Amino acid sequence: MADQDYYELLGVSRSASADEIKKAYRRLAMKYHPDRNPGDKAAEEKFKAIGEAYAVLSDEQKRAAYDRFGKAGVDPSAAGGAGGFGNGFGGFGNMGAGDFQSAFGDIFSDLFGGGARARGQQREQGVRGDDVSFSLEISLEDAAHGRKMEIRVPSWEECKTCHGSGCKPGTSKKTCPTCGGSGAVRMSNGIFHVQQTCPRCHGSGQVIEEPCTDCQGTGYTRTAKVLEVNIPAGINDGQRIRMVGKGEPGLNGGAAGDLYIEIRIRPSEIFERDGDDLHMDLPISFATAALGGEVEVPTLEGKTRITIPEGTQSGKTFRLRDKGIRNMRTRDPGDLYLHILIETPVNLTGKQKELLREFENSIKQGGEKHNPKTKGFFERMKNIFK
Ligand SMILES: [Zn+2]
Ligand SMILES: [Zn+2]
Repeated sequence: MADQDYYELLGVSRSASADEIKKAYRRLAMKYHPDRNPGDKAAEEKFKAIGEAYAVLSDEQKRAAYDRFGKAGVDPSAAGGAGGFGNGFGGFGNMGAGDFQSAFGDIFSDLFGGGARARGQQREQGVRGDDVSFSLEISLEDAAHGRKMEIRVPSWEECKTCHGSGCKPGTSKKTCPTCGGSGAVRMSNGIFHVQQTCPRCHGSGQVIEEPCTDCQGTGYTRTAKVLEVNIPAGINDGQRIRMVGKGEPGLNGGAAGDLYIEIRIRPSEIFERDGDDLHMDLPISFATAALGGEVEVPTLEGKTRITIPEGTQSGKTFRLRDKGIRNMRTRDPGDLYLHILIETPVNLTGKQKELLREFENSIKQGGEKHNPKTKGFFERMKNIFK
């Protein structure tokens, strides 16, 4: 069921409006609600699955990501998902527990006339920390060769003032007065009885009466730390490196989120990348093109020399085998393509111009054999205007 299409799960078309999606979800949620199907595992699974589908399809951005990439676009465990990126602290995870619950909360506040949240993640007391994403700009050379880099990332450490308790020094946590320490409260509207996580203590059964002012009661303070990241050789623009457990810390003993580093490759002044291949324009002089000769060309491994054959035309492409980028997975190298640009000489002196005219005359005397393309071109022109 986990792999079923979200639209199919809700029984709506891919072009369904937000309102249609909401109605479909509400109808199904009523039908499969665990309180209406006590002990029915299949109904409970279905209830969870439609909740997940609704959480994605009711959010315009997530729906768009899902339409384009499928679950990979909205699944926090899959690389390449949608997420905000920015200046370090900027982007936070994909679909976390918060989104999930707000989607439920939205519908259930309709059903219960406000306030109620469905059961979802509430039985677990530990809440997993959010994933954190940020982007890292590297050069094409670093992407090609791979390297270890030290990066400064946002981090959290136990608050020194309260030692992680979140309570003002000298005070301690108290039993939650709303739920009497059980962590759950029951709500009813006459149809359903819903046991939900206590909204006051979020299920922990305890509340902080006087929060620590240095961490606002979270027990953590923000800091930055230096992490060593291994950039694999061959990585491409937009790919992400996942560092498990380096995201935001969890709450109530939940696991930390993950850190995603999205790679941005600075455009190179020389090379253009196309997958594992590289392309570059190679300007050569008109004389070298005509006479042939050796020229120096840059590669990612340094300079090399290539032989330009006599009579090379503009636009000709030479391939330097295996001088591209090694594929990150297969380790097979791509190729480097050199696109010949014949440079017309400029700022000529009188003497040089004179030599060129003399040269041009000698070419004319030699006839069409020197300019086969020009000959062909004039013949095609005659056909057009005859
Ligand atoms: Zn504190
Ligand atoms: Zn409580």
